[in-house]
Amino acid sequence: MASGKTAVGRELARRLGWRLFDTGIMYRAATWQAQKGSIYLDDDESVVELIRHSDFQLRAPATADSVELEVYVDGENATPHLREPEVESGVPTVAAIAGVRTLMVQIQQQQAMQGCMIVVGRDIGTVVLPDAPVKIFLDASAEVRAQRRAKERNQDADRASVLAATNRRDELDQRRAASPLVAAQDAITLNTSSLSLVEAVDRAEQIIRAHLPMPVSVVGGEA
Ligand code: C5P
Repeated sequence: MASGKTAVGRELARRLGWRLFDTGIMYRAATWQAQKGSIYLDDDESVVELIRHSDFQLRAPATADSVELEVYVDGENATPHLREPEVESGVPTVAAIAGVRTLMVQIQQQQAMQGCMIVVGRDIGTVVLPDAPVKIFLDASAEVRAQRRAKERNQDADRASVLAATNRRDELDQRRAASPLVAAQDAITLNTSSLSLVEAVDRAEQIIRAHLPMPVSVVGGEA
Protein backbone atom coordinates (compact mmCIF):
# COMPACT_ATOMS: atom_id res chain seq x y z
CA MET A 1 0.00 0.00 0.00
CA ALA A 2 2.47 2.60 -1.06
CA SER A 3 4.15 2.73 2.31
CA GLY A 4 7.77 3.72 2.63
CA LYS A 5 7.89 3.29 -1.12
CA THR A 6 9.98 6.33 -1.89
CA ALA A 7 12.57 5.55 0.79
CA VAL A 8 12.75 1.88 -0.24
CA GLY A 9 12.86 2.78 -3.93
CA ARG A 10 15.60 5.36 -3.41
CA GLU A 11 17.84 2.94 -1.54
CA LEU A 12 17.18 0.14 -4.02
CA ALA A 13 18.09 2.43 -6.91
CA ARG A 14 21.35 3.33 -5.14
CA ARG A 15 22.28 -0.31 -4.56
CA LEU A 16 21.49 -1.36 -8.11
CA GLY A 17 23.04 1.72 -9.71
CA TRP A 18 19.71 2.64 -11.29
CA ARG A 19 17.56 5.79 -11.25
CA LEU A 20 14.44 6.25 -9.14
CA PHE A 21 11.34 7.50 -10.92
CA ASP A 22 8.76 8.36 -8.28
CA THR A 23 5.62 8.99 -10.32
CA GLY A 24 3.93 10.86 -7.46
CA ILE A 25 6.06 13.88 -8.42
CA MET A 26 4.17 14.15 -11.68
CA TYR A 27 0.75 14.42 -10.03
CA ARG A 28 2.22 16.84 -7.53
CA ALA A 29 3.76 18.91 -10.34
CA ALA A 30 0.42 18.94 -12.20
CA THR A 31 -1.27 20.17 -9.01
CA TRP A 32 1.37 22.87 -8.51
CA GLN A 33 0.95 24.00 -12.12
CA ALA A 34 -2.84 24.21 -11.77
CA GLN A 35 -2.60 26.12 -8.50
CA LYS A 36 -0.04 28.47 -9.98
CA GLY A 37 -2.47 29.14 -12.82
CA SER A 38 -5.24 29.79 -10.22
CA ILE A 39 -7.37 27.01 -11.67
CA TYR A 40 -10.14 25.58 -9.54
CA LEU A 41 -9.04 21.95 -9.05
CA ASP A 42 -12.59 20.59 -9.26
CA ASP A 43 -12.89 22.04 -12.76
CA ASP A 44 -11.67 18.89 -14.53
CA GLU A 45 -11.84 20.31 -18.03
CA SER A 46 -9.76 23.38 -17.27
CA VAL A 47 -7.19 21.33 -15.36
CA VAL A 48 -6.83 18.85 -18.24
CA GLU A 49 -6.60 21.70 -20.76
CA LEU A 50 -3.81 23.36 -18.79
CA ILE A 51 -1.89 20.11 -18.27
CA ARG A 52 -2.23 19.23 -21.95
CA HIS A 53 -0.60 22.52 -22.89
CA SER A 54 2.14 22.34 -20.27
CA ASP A 55 5.49 20.78 -21.02
CA PHE A 56 6.42 18.12 -18.43
CA GLN A 57 9.97 16.84 -18.53
CA LEU A 58 11.83 14.42 -16.32
CA ARG A 59 15.49 15.14 -15.90
CA ALA A 60 18.45 13.55 -14.21
CA PRO A 61 18.98 14.68 -10.60
CA ALA A 62 20.68 18.04 -10.22
CA THR A 63 23.03 16.79 -7.50
CA ALA A 64 25.47 13.91 -7.87
CA ASP A 65 24.41 12.18 -4.63
CA SER A 66 20.76 11.92 -5.68
CA VAL A 67 19.29 9.08 -7.76
CA GLU A 68 15.86 10.63 -8.18
CA LEU A 69 14.54 12.02 -11.43
CA GLU A 70 13.28 15.59 -11.10
CA VAL A 71 10.29 17.13 -12.83
CA TYR A 72 10.33 20.35 -14.82
CA VAL A 73 7.19 22.13 -15.99
CA ASP A 74 7.55 24.60 -18.85
CA GLY A 75 11.27 24.68 -18.17
CA GLU A 76 11.01 25.38 -14.43
CA ASN A 77 12.11 22.82 -11.84
CA ALA A 78 8.93 22.03 -9.90
CA THR A 79 10.69 19.63 -7.51
CA PRO A 80 11.31 22.11 -4.63
CA HIS A 81 7.58 22.95 -4.46
CA LEU A 82 6.09 19.48 -4.43
CA ARG A 83 5.88 18.96 -0.64
CA GLU A 84 4.17 22.29 0.07
CA PRO A 85 0.94 21.85 2.10
CA GLU A 86 -1.21 23.33 -0.65
CA VAL A 87 0.10 20.80 -3.18
CA GLU A 88 -0.20 18.01 -0.61
CA SER A 89 -3.89 18.70 -0.05
CA GLY A 90 -4.77 19.32 -3.70
CA VAL A 91 -3.03 16.35 -5.29
CA PRO A 92 -5.70 13.64 -4.71
CA THR A 93 -8.24 15.82 -6.56
CA VAL A 94 -5.95 16.33 -9.56
CA ALA A 95 -4.79 12.68 -9.56
CA ALA A 96 -8.43 11.54 -9.71
CA ILE A 97 -9.04 13.33 -13.04
CA ALA A 98 -8.99 10.66 -15.76
CA GLY A 99 -7.74 13.08 -18.44
CA VAL A 100 -4.78 14.08 -16.27
CA ARG A 101 -3.92 10.43 -15.64
CA THR A 102 -3.96 9.62 -19.36
CA LEU A 103 -1.45 12.39 -20.06
CA MET A 104 0.77 11.51 -17.11
CA VAL A 105 0.77 7.77 -17.87
CA GLN A 106 1.94 8.42 -21.44
CA ILE A 107 4.92 10.40 -20.18
CA GLN A 108 5.68 7.75 -17.55
CA GLN A 109 5.63 4.95 -20.10
CA GLN A 110 8.04 6.84 -22.36
CA GLN A 111 10.31 7.58 -19.43
CA ALA A 112 10.39 3.95 -18.29
CA MET A 113 11.85 2.97 -21.68
CA GLN A 114 15.00 4.97 -20.93
CA GLY A 115 16.84 2.15 -19.14
CA CYS A 116 16.78 0.18 -15.88
CA MET A 117 14.95 2.07 -13.18
CA ILE A 118 12.87 1.68 -10.07
CA VAL A 119 9.45 3.11 -10.86
CA VAL A 120 7.32 3.93 -7.83
CA GLY A 121 3.59 4.61 -7.74
CA ARG A 122 0.16 3.27 -7.00
CA ASP A 123 -0.78 2.14 -10.51
CA ILE A 124 2.56 1.11 -11.97
CA GLY A 125 2.06 -2.65 -11.97
CA THR A 126 -1.57 -2.44 -13.03
CA VAL A 127 -1.77 0.42 -15.54
CA VAL A 128 1.52 2.10 -16.38
CA LEU A 129 3.84 -0.91 -16.77
CA PRO A 130 1.74 -4.08 -16.73
CA ASP A 131 4.68 -5.95 -18.30
CA ALA A 132 7.28 -4.80 -15.78
CA PRO A 133 9.72 -7.67 -15.11
CA VAL A 134 9.36 -7.38 -11.32
CA LYS A 135 6.44 -5.92 -9.36
CA ILE A 136 6.59 -5.39 -5.62
CA PHE A 137 3.56 -4.19 -3.63
CA LEU A 138 4.66 -2.59 -0.37
CA ASP A 139 2.13 -2.83 2.42
CA ALA A 140 2.07 -1.34 5.93
CA SER A 141 -0.44 -0.14 8.53
CA ALA A 142 -1.73 3.45 8.28
CA GLU A 143 -0.16 4.31 11.63
CA VAL A 144 3.27 3.10 10.56
CA ARG A 145 2.96 5.17 7.40
CA ALA A 146 2.04 8.30 9.35
CA GLN A 147 5.03 7.85 11.64
CA ARG A 148 7.33 7.52 8.64
CA ARG A 149 5.94 10.61 6.95
CA ALA A 150 6.30 12.71 10.09
CA LYS A 151 9.88 11.51 10.46
CA GLU A 152 10.65 12.12 6.80
CA ARG A 153 9.62 15.72 7.14
CA ASN A 154 12.00 16.06 10.04
CA GLN A 155 9.74 18.30 12.07
CA ASP A 156 7.52 18.03 15.14
CA ALA A 157 4.44 17.41 13.10
CA ASP A 158 1.40 16.57 15.16
CA ARG A 159 1.13 12.79 14.68
CA ALA A 160 -2.64 12.73 14.86
CA SER A 161 -3.05 15.25 12.06
CA VAL A 162 -0.44 13.51 9.91
CA LEU A 163 -2.25 10.22 10.45
CA ALA A 164 -5.58 11.83 9.51
CA ALA A 165 -4.07 13.36 6.35
CA THR A 166 -2.46 10.05 5.33
CA ASN A 167 -5.71 8.18 5.86
CA ARG A 168 -7.65 10.79 3.93
CA ARG A 169 -5.31 10.55 0.94
CA ASP A 170 -5.27 6.75 0.98
CA GLU A 171 -9.04 6.70 1.16
CA LEU A 172 -9.43 9.16 -1.72
CA ASP A 173 -6.87 7.22 -3.78
CA GLN A 174 -8.64 3.91 -3.13
CA ARG A 175 -12.15 5.20 -3.82
CA ARG A 176 -11.45 7.06 -7.04
CA ALA A 177 -12.79 5.64 -10.29
CA ALA A 178 -9.64 6.22 -12.35
CA SER A 179 -6.89 3.71 -11.50
CA PRO A 180 -7.75 3.12 -7.83
CA LEU A 181 -4.95 1.85 -5.62
CA VAL A 182 -4.85 -1.93 -5.97
CA ALA A 183 -2.09 -4.50 -6.18
CA ALA A 184 -1.37 -6.12 -9.55
CA GLN A 185 -2.30 -9.80 -9.54
CA ASP A 186 1.26 -10.81 -10.28
CA ALA A 187 2.84 -8.45 -7.73
CA ILE A 188 4.80 -9.79 -4.78
CA THR A 189 3.50 -8.26 -1.55
CA LEU A 190 6.08 -7.11 0.96
CA ASN A 191 4.67 -6.04 4.33
CA THR A 192 7.07 -3.52 5.81
CA SER A 193 5.22 -2.70 9.09
CA SER A 194 7.76 -4.49 11.27
CA LEU A 195 10.80 -4.09 9.02
CA SER A 196 13.49 -1.45 9.24
CA LEU A 197 14.32 0.41 6.05
CA VAL A 198 17.45 -1.70 5.55
CA GLU A 199 15.50 -4.94 6.08
CA ALA A 200 12.81 -3.85 3.62
CA VAL A 201 15.44 -2.92 1.03
CA ASP A 202 17.27 -6.22 1.58
CA ARG A 203 14.08 -8.18 0.92
CA ALA A 204 13.13 -6.10 -2.09
CA GLU A 205 16.63 -6.45 -3.53
CA GLN A 206 16.47 -10.24 -3.11
CA ILE A 207 13.13 -10.29 -4.92
CA ILE A 208 14.48 -8.21 -7.78
CA ARG A 209 17.66 -10.24 -8.16
CA ALA A 210 15.69 -13.50 -8.06
CA HIS A 211 13.30 -12.38 -10.78
CA LEU A 212 15.48 -10.51 -13.22
CA PRO A 213 16.62 -12.49 -16.25
CA MET A 214 20.14 -13.89 -15.76
CA PRO A 215 22.84 -11.87 -17.50
CA VAL A 216 24.03 -13.60 -20.65
CA SER A 217 27.70 -14.50 -20.58
CA VAL A 218 29.67 -15.41 -23.66
CA VAL A 219 32.74 -17.58 -23.01
CA GLY A 220 35.61 -18.37 -25.39
CA GLY A 221 37.36 -16.47 -28.17
CA GLU A 222 37.47 -18.97 -31.05
CA ALA A 223 35.05 -18.77 -33.93
O1 C5P B 1 3.39 9.08 -3.76
P1 C5P B 1 3.01 10.49 -3.44
O2 C5P B 1 2.56 10.67 -2.02
O3 C5P B 1 4.05 11.49 -3.82
O4 C5P B 1 1.77 10.75 -4.37
C1 C5P B 1 1.01 11.93 -4.26
C2 C5P B 1 -0.38 11.68 -4.81
O5 C5P B 1 -0.27 11.48 -6.21
C3 C5P B 1 -1.10 10.47 -4.27
O6 C5P B 1 -1.83 10.76 -3.10
C4 C5P B 1 -1.99 10.08 -5.40
O7 C5P B 1 -3.18 10.84 -5.34
C5 C5P B 1 -1.22 10.53 -6.64
N1 C5P B 1 -0.54 9.45 -7.35
C6 C5P B 1 -1.26 8.66 -8.20
N2 C5P B 1 -0.66 7.72 -8.95
C7 C5P B 1 0.66 7.53 -8.89
C8 C5P B 1 1.46 8.31 -8.01
C9 C5P B 1 0.81 9.26 -7.24
O8 C5P B 1 -2.48 8.81 -8.26
N3 C5P B 1 1.24 6.63 -9.69
